[in-house]
Amino acid sequence: MLVLMKPDATAEQIESVKEKVRVMGFTPHGIPGAQRVAVGITGNRGPIEADLFIGMPGVADALRVSQPFKLVSRDVKPEDTVVDVGGIRVGGPQVVVMAGPCSVESEKQLLQAAEAVRAAGASFLRGGAYKPRTSPYEFQGLREDGLKLLAKARQETGLRIVTEVKDTETAELVAQYADVLQIGARNMQNFSLLERAGELGKPVLLKRGLSATVKELLMAAEYIASRGNYQVILCERGIRTFETATRNTVDINAIPVLQSLTHLPVLLDPSHGIGIRQHVPAIARAGVAAGADGLIVEVHPRPEEALSDGFQSLAPPEFASLMKQVEQIAHAVGRGVAQPAAR
Ligand code: PEP
Ligand code: MN
Repeated sequence: MLVLMKPDATAEQIESVKEKVRVMGFTPHGIPGAQRVAVGITGNRGPIEADLFIGMPGVADALRVSQPFKLVSRDVKPEDTVVDVGGIRVGGPQVVVMAGPCSVESEKQLLQAAEAVRAAGASFLRGGAYKPRTSPYEFQGLREDGLKLLAKARQETGLRIVTEVKDTETAELVAQYADVLQIGARNMQNFSLLERAGELGKPVLLKRGLSATVKELLMAAEYIASRGNYQVILCERGIRTFETATRNTVDINAIPVLQSLTHLPVLLDPSHGIGIRQHVPAIARAGVAAGADGLIVEVHPRPEEALSDGFQSLAPPEFASLMKQVEQIAHAVGRGVAQPAAR
């Protein structure tokens, strides 16, 4: 159920609607919109009588939300959510590019990557400090030392930082350093982690699970929103199919489909999506052409030396030439590319 307040509803009127929801034993969620506030109701098992709210002072209407995902659906909030990360706006008219190595490996590697991606026009630096690796014998990340290096790179370049939070134990620590918390594909349905991410007060980049449907991705986002955090950015990163010629199969379909179902921004990760360096630019271009709100791309100063995902990481010159194409495609679809913040 969604209670739509009138544009001139007062704070007291909104609060009385929320209080009524609480008295009924359910949870109210205030959802600010461009024109008016809405109050989403969760926790009810069956339908709620609209008449219980229609007629209350300040209430314009009460609607049933038919989708199982509620707070993240367009029914509840028709206008796009813009996630503002220190002035860089994800989900607005500008396409936002996040780039950097798969893993933070050393100060030299990270700062070189940061300078290179910034010079090419990226506004976020990516880099994992806690790595979810298929094998326990592979590089697991520099952990807190890696977070410190990310903070240093932010200080030197002004780039915003996105880094993965791998488990609930380290979530708070990662949140102290990151501007955006990445929840990786393997953790998309780690419900405790989703709930914790909903409470940490930081924007979340939620990647689609390896074999998750669009609806499952939206339900995972709903877990975060249900804890009061609407600062969620979705990311298509390829799914498992019968195809073995590529690492994953990029579901370009998911970009417009997600955007029709949810108000949240949608990014594309072409690197994990196709998993082959030489083809990453083609898929990145396709994503921007399909309307993605941004890209997250793996870039390493020396891909052949990378401790993880080197085979799909672009070298700085390849990334710089991709960025020129991204600018042209963004322009062709009526958008621009967000510029990095000042140092
Ligand atoms: C990554 O971004 O390096 C990563 C592990 O991505 P995913 O969770 O999409 O596999
Ligand atoms: Mn990677």
